[in-house]
Amino acid sequence: MECPYCGEELEHHDSFGRVASHQDGKVLGDIWKCPNGAEQNDSCDSEMFSVSGSFYTYRNREDYLLEGYPC
Ligand SMILES: [Zn+2]
Repeated sequence: MECPYCGEELEHHDSFGRVASHQDGKVLGDIWKCPNGAEQNDSCDSEMFSVSGSFYTYRNREDYLLEGYPC
């Protein structure tokens, strides 16, 4: 997976889903970080996101990259 803004390879940061203790533990997707956006060094527009350099995907649609953090 590459950053759509700067082309840098995205780093897998975390996964998300219904993973709190009272939930069923289903993983819904993954959180990715562009190293350039996360560093805020003016080399990637993703640093303007609410969470700098963050993208996420859903497990049922892994080629569809969304910006920021999942709600
Ligand atoms: Zn980038």
